[in-house]
Amino acid sequence: MHQLTLAEIARGLADKKFSSEELTRALLARINQLDPQINSFISVTEDLAISQARAADARRAAGESGALLGAPIGHKDLFCTQGIRTSCGSKMLDNFKAPYDATVVSKLAEAGAVTLGKTNMDEFAMGSANESSYYGAVKNPWNLEHVPGGSSGGSAAAVAARLLPGATATDTGGSIRQPAALTSLTGLKPTYGRVSRWGMIAYASSLDQAGPLARTAEDCALLLQGMAGFDAKDSTSIDEPVPDYSASLNASLQGLRIGLPKEYFGAGLDPRIADLVQASVKELEKLGAVVKEISLPNMQHAIPAYYVIAPAEASSNLSRFDGVRFGYRCESPVDLTDLYKRSRGEGFGPEVQRRIMVGAYALSAGYYDAYYLQAQKIRRLIKNDFMAAFNDVDVILGPTTPNLAWKIGAKNNDPVAEYLEDVYTITANLAGLPGLSMPAGFVDGLPVGVQLLAPYFHEGRLLNVAYRYQQVTDWHTRAPNGF
Ligand code: GLN
Repeated sequence: MHQLTLAEIARGLADKKFSSEELTRALLARINQLDPQINSFISVTEDLAISQARAADARRAAGESGALLGAPIGHKDLFCTQGIRTSCGSKMLDNFKAPYDATVVSKLAEAGAVTLGKTNMDEFAMGSANESSYYGAVKNPWNLEHVPGGSSGGSAAAVAARLLPGATATDTGGSIRQPAALTSLTGLKPTYGRVSRWGMIAYASSLDQAGPLARTAEDCALLLQGMAGFDAKDSTSIDEPVPDYSASLNASLQGLRIGLPKEYFGAGLDPRIADLVQASVKELEKLGAVVKEISLPNMQHAIPAYYVIAPAEASSNLSRFDGVRFGYRCESPVDLTDLYKRSRGEGFGPEVQRRIMVGAYALSAGYYDAYYLQAQKIRRLIKNDFMAAFNDVDVILGPTTPNLAWKIGAKNNDPVAEYLEDVYTITANLAGLPGLSMPAGFVDGLPVGVQLLAPYFHEGRLLNVAYRYQQVTDWHTRAPNGF
């Protein structure tokens, strides 16, 4: 049963081939048996899962239907879940039980999805390797010595290992698309504002966006359908109708204009990844797409701009963790300053502390103009580059990552080396655009992803291209050895 996709599960449940409770119990047993190898869960919510599965079975018996009714999923551990630990991968929130559900969590629960657990992640979603979690590194099911990508590495590893058919994730600078690429999954970062951020623990509020991780584009469409929509509780949520993402999956690609940015294929890209990207372009051409070279001239400035803006917002967002209101509190503080200092010094890990310091520095009176303001100007230039490109093309295609999944520990002494892995993904966050990564092959047994970007609110187009590609390729159907 663990090999089934969400779409297949929906059909199996509708045809009464199995119940949600049977499926849920089978997957819980699989998590117990296999997760110790990959460490993809922070909490397994067995009791909640069984009761939600029974409720979904009862709803089906009463005549209800729905693609997610009874479908088991996991939530990245930064979505607040009422009464359940919501740790954000941090010692700071190890003891935090959220008093309410995030909008994404409640919407999916209303659609009938069953929560099997909360997945591991980089601390406060800061990272590209899932090594900064207080709960330990997540291992890549394709090779247990390698990272699964981050920060949604737990969601990705769990889905890749067939412990779950799909999971929620978030993407501030690539954390859905990059782990999707490194674990051979399909992952979609929606347009900023498409999915509510309410109840999602904030990293960098102007960049954070939730989306699905699953094996296929078809499954991402089902999950996005359950997540997307206006939410009055999120002031950046956009009141635009949500299209039927499944209905447009099979649309023809005849005449689709694909832009290949020349800046994507320069030095720094593993040539074996470049070859697989070109092979994916050939497949899409066979389906009727036409290819054009384009230019995104300001791309080179994206990493420095992002690594000013994201830490700046993080330093402000994380000021709420002060040892007073919630989360970790140090032992026997002597006064208020000692309480703040030691609660934060002991509760946050080194990468989070580094970002808070960088962000506070960039925002400080003497440096604001030199760093933060400059970074915001670059952000606008990057957006303008995309707007100009989308005058000529319908989607932009390139690699999701410049390199294969690296060995656990290989970049631990060099944070900047890890930051550089985000080169292809962060521009979409800076511009607020939707992006998708889909499996496009393997090098030395490690997965490679191709990224597609589209204009605002064209998630349906991304899913359509990926779906058609997945009809003529089988990368997305392969499972890692032992899983
Ligand atoms: N790797 C990027 C960072 O560390 C992006 C993380 C994310 O998207 N949450 O900030």
